[in-house]
Amino acid sequence: MKIQEITQEIRAKALKRAKKRSPRELSTSWTQEDLLYSGTGKTIFMILPTPGCSWALSESGGCSMCSYIAESTLEPISAQTIIDIFHELLEKYQIEEKTAFKIFTSGSFLNPGELPPEARNEILKTLNNLENVTEIVVESRPEYVTPEIMRECCSLIPDKLFEVSMGLETSDDYTREFKINKGFSQADFEKAVNVIGDLKKEYDVKSKAYILVKPILTSEKEAIDQAIATAIYAEKVGVDRVSFCPSTIHKGTVMEYLWRSGSYQPPQIWSAIEIINKVRQSVKIPAVMDTSGFGSRRGPYNCKKCNSKLKDMIIKSNLDQSLIEDIECGCKGEWLAETKFSDLNRSTTRIQYIKK
Ligand code: SF4
Ligand SMILES: [Zn+2]
Repeated sequence: MKIQEITQEIRAKALKRAKKRSPRELSTSWTQEDLLYSGTGKTIFMILPTPGCSWALSESGGCSMCSYIAESTLEPISAQTIIDIFHELLEKYQIEEKTAFKIFTSGSFLNPGELPPEARNEILKTLNNLENVTEIVVESRPEYVTPEIMRECCSLIPDKLFEVSMGLETSDDYTREFKINKGFSQADFEKAVNVIGDLKKEYDVKSKAYILVKPILTSEKEAIDQAIATAIYAEKVGVDRVSFCPSTIHKGTVMEYLWRSGSYQPPQIWSAIEIINKVRQSVKIPAVMDTSGFGSRRGPYNCKKCNSKLKDMIIKSNLDQSLIEDIECGCKGEWLAETKFSDLNRSTTRIQYIKK
């Protein structure tokens, strides 16, 4: 498939240039106020090193917008090293009552080929023993969400809420396959959601769908419509919450290649607001809009006057799930024209960015 050839070629070049970093240099942690299932609370985020996402390392070349592979060692890491790093990071925190843990591995936490089961189980057992930890969130591609692995994880944390976040990205199979190069279908995703659903009788287990806002070769209007349709679909098939990820330009990706050649621009912040407001009125499950990269050169952008104000409004609305009030700014007219007329000229990028 053409997208896979291009992704692989761009990825290979980027990895050649990438600076080699040790597992400790690749790991990090921080805390943030967040929307937990039990309301607003504190989340401790941890990024643990692994050899890298298997999908990105395969012949597929990985997803067209993702550079997480550059945050990986690309060579085997022992389970003990990962366990040691986890404990070192954990020691930095006084864990308050009602804390969530989000453990990210720049790939699939549930894939034994990325995170050895020994490390996975030790992390879960440790978190289970921390009384103040109420929720544990991990990320995985759907093919690793099997009844066996899920049951093993749940049995180690029987009293905690366990959420598996999956990068569905879009409910449109064509876009997922040919524009994102995600490598799984809607049916694969639903199978994973059902595995989680089947365990709900015994455990407090949840599924989350990440939704990519504006894949490559998608107009601003299509991006908005697709993101809203995807949230509605996710709720329909039993997902417990959705998290929108508006594109930011990662280095060494097909998305960056198109952006550099003037053929792609991340969504505007107005679009993020439109999505969140429409979704809050159409679905009942919690919906969060990720604001990382907002207002930066490589991220969602409106204008210098309104970027930070709107970003703050979105962060607040993530916490209380409220609607975002309509505000005015000189840049809004351009966005309105873009979303109204992009289908007429079939443009997938803002007119001012098209190269002469
Ligand atoms: S988005 Fe997920 S599955 Fe795709 S390459 Fe990145 S880490 Fe791998
Ligand atoms: Zn503005």
